[in-house]
Amino acid sequence: MKYWTICIGEKIIRINLVHIVFATSIFICTFLSSTFTVFQFVHSSIHKANFFKQKKKNEQLTDSIQKMAANINILNIKLDSLVNIDNKNRLVWGLDTLDEDIEKLGVGGPKIQWSSIGIVDKLTESLEALKNRTDFVSQSFDELTHSINRTEKVLNATPSVWPAQGAITSNFGWRKMGGASEYHSGMDIANNVGTPVLATAAGVITRVEDAGRLGLCVEIDHGFGYRTLYGHLSRTKVSLSKKVNRNEVIGYMGSTGRSTGPHLHYEVRVSGESSPPLNYIIPGATTY
Ligand SMILES: [Zn+2]
Repeated sequence: MKYWTICIGEKIIRINLVHIVFATSIFICTFLSSTFTVFQFVHSSIHKANFFKQKKKNEQLTDSIQKMAANINILNIKLDSLVNIDNKNRLVWGLDTLDEDIEKLGVGGPKIQWSSIGIVDKLTESLEALKNRTDFVSQSFDELTHSINRTEKVLNATPSVWPAQGAITSNFGWRKMGGASEYHSGMDIANNVGTPVLATAAGVITRVEDAGRLGLCVEIDHGFGYRTLYGHLSRTKVSLSKKVNRNEVIGYMGSTGRSTGPHLHYEVRVSGESSPPLNYIIPGATTY
């Protein structure tokens, strides 16, 4: 067998082919083993990095869902508060309260309990319920607004103030006139000729004429079945079809027609029937 001589410092080593093959094999094994270890280390590091990245994402997602659930709970509590306020207003304005209706619809707002299982489904259901409740309360607000607007219009059309300054000399109802009984369909208020006479509610002038016994008179249609009549005027300040507001001067006190002295004959008619004017004047509602 062939040998080679290698000098390492003062040492002389003799090697043959078997030595070379053995040494080369050990080198290759060591190299492969090292490479595999490095590969495993790199692979494991990448895997760990991905795991922590995913874990962080999951934590952020969980945090977001928890915040969303908490916000839904807060919105439900605030909506409950709005329903309470709305119910009080509905009671004031003569409408039915909402509680029973909401229960019938089954769209109440239960508190979401945190759970990682099925939480997305719970959030979806809760948001849907919240939307239904909000729609329902919104409709209630519309109804309430409509009711308030109508009530405001009715109140604006109701003759509720004094038509003139003066003393009541004859009230509504049966009275003695020259020994005979007579039905007085209005109320008489006496003062000087020229005392301003005011519209007692908003409306439209439907009559300006000399009506014989009533003298010069003005009639106002207020809507909602209300009309008022002002008689014995000395002169008027309005024409037919004119729109007037409450407290607007429509004429002046006089003594025209069948009258024994300057006064205003004031009538309130509801759906064509004369009604006691004093019943409509709000206590303390004076224009003077
Ligand atoms: Zn009268």
